[in-house]
Amino acid sequence: MSSIPQAQERVLSTLNTDGSRRWIRPRPSRGRFYRRRLLTAWSLMLLFVAVPFGRIHGKPVLLLDVPTREFVFFGKTFLPTDTFLLMLLLFGIFVGIFLVTAVFGRLWCGWACPQTVYMELLFRPLERWIEGGRKRQLELDRRGADGRRMLKYAVFFLLSAFFGNIFLAYFVGTHRLAAWVTSSPAQHPAAFLVMATVTLLMFADFTYFREQVCLVACPYGRFQSVLLDQSSLIVGYDPGRGEPRAKLRKGRGEATGDCIDCLKCVMTCPTGIDIRDGLQMECIHCTQCIDACDAVMDKVGRPRGLIRYTSKAELETGRRRFLRPRLFAYAAILVAIFGTLGYSLAAKRSADVTVLRGLGAPFTRLASGRISNQIRLKIVNRSGEDRSYAFSLKNAPAGVELIAPENPLTVPRASSGLTAAFITAPPEVCASGEYHATLHIDDGIGFQEDVPLRLLGPVAHGDTR
Ligand code: SF4
Ligand code: SF4
Repeated sequence: MSSIPQAQERVLSTLNTDGSRRWIRPRPSRGRFYRRRLLTAWSLMLLFVAVPFGRIHGKPVLLLDVPTREFVFFGKTFLPTDTFLLMLLLFGIFVGIFLVTAVFGRLWCGWACPQTVYMELLFRPLERWIEGGRKRQLELDRRGADGRRMLKYAVFFLLSAFFGNIFLAYFVGTHRLAAWVTSSPAQHPAAFLVMATVTLLMFADFTYFREQVCLVACPYGRFQSVLLDQSSLIVGYDPGRGEPRAKLRKGRGEATGDCIDCLKCVMTCPTGIDIRDGLQMECIHCTQCIDACDAVMDKVGRPRGLIRYTSKAELETGRRRFLRPRLFAYAAILVAIFGTLGYSLAAKRSADVTVLRGLGAPFTRLASGRISNQIRLKIVNRSGEDRSYAFSLKNAPAGVELIAPENPLTVPRASSGLTAAFITAPPEVCASGEYHATLHIDDGIGFQEDVPLRLLGPVAHGDTR
């Protein structure tokens, strides 16, 4: 008979020593931090739903349209050709994460990460409401699912479908999403498959994977040892004040610390750890143990803050040090990055125009004797709609003509168009070997640009300039 090997000790808070899943059923602690987190969470959820519908000058606030390779941030369109700006933005986000983590530790994880916000402040409260509290849930885990658990799955599925669709709106836009949702899946099987996959992934996340996403899949927690320093804000237990711990009634005396070993901080922890073991990768800094312990301290008549927002340096030395060199370095890099980005964005217009010389000979002599220069006109349309760009010559010498087979040039939204045109001139205009003109581009609804042209021709015999 084969026997399952047992680990010496628990290697992950969500695993039993025989490798089976240890379901975490935390008991909520509704203290001051919980109430603030709840308020923050609901504001963020509303924001998450509202952002895809938001518009700035008719364009989405945020759109990451991967199929058409159009990215819109705060109403400004980035195209794949804007590699530098996108790189700058990504780099800025990374440095921002470094800075925020160095100062506030894992504040993001506990207060704003969508995984925590939805899991801890929407799905778990709903679960408790439908199934009952911690004891009842643990009982269900032992006995198997009943009607209430099935009802919970149904509610979770509907919510996953809703949030899954909102999530998709960030990538396909609300108009396309509305068309998908209101038409038969047979008309858009690929889109339906994407919607179904996103819904199922969300459902699996909030019913099965849960806190394991933070413990196993998320790289952020694993980087905390390099991102945090001694002065970063953490949720920490003060062993100097709490130890030696002792149960309230048994053997407590002058020499015992404030911790009464009630385990309330452990039972409330959504990742199943004991904060008293020190800073751990699994701690998402959700502050539930602070609320639990503060309530206990209130009851036993001891000051709050045995578990509190603190720093490793403060726990060890009693002194807090906020300003340190790495913060200045991160802040300086951020100012440089976002300053450049902001300037570049402000300078961006609804279209980019590039005029290139035609391939081959610099000019040709036509049968009529006129001199022809070929140009290629490339226009990148950054606006949120299809546009037609008419172009004409300005400030050209008499007799110069523009011949353009495709004028106006129609360019679909978020893409580029290329066309060729010819500029012909009588030979005397380019007697010196060149002449100048201006190409005027106009989309008829606000965008205008003048591009100076240097056009070539044969030097007339006897011209010494
Ligand atoms: S809640 Fe406070 S008193 Fe109770 S075990 Fe945790 S640290 Fe100790
Ligand atoms: S140890 Fe405390 S702050 Fe960390 S995850 Fe558990 S309850 Fe949240």
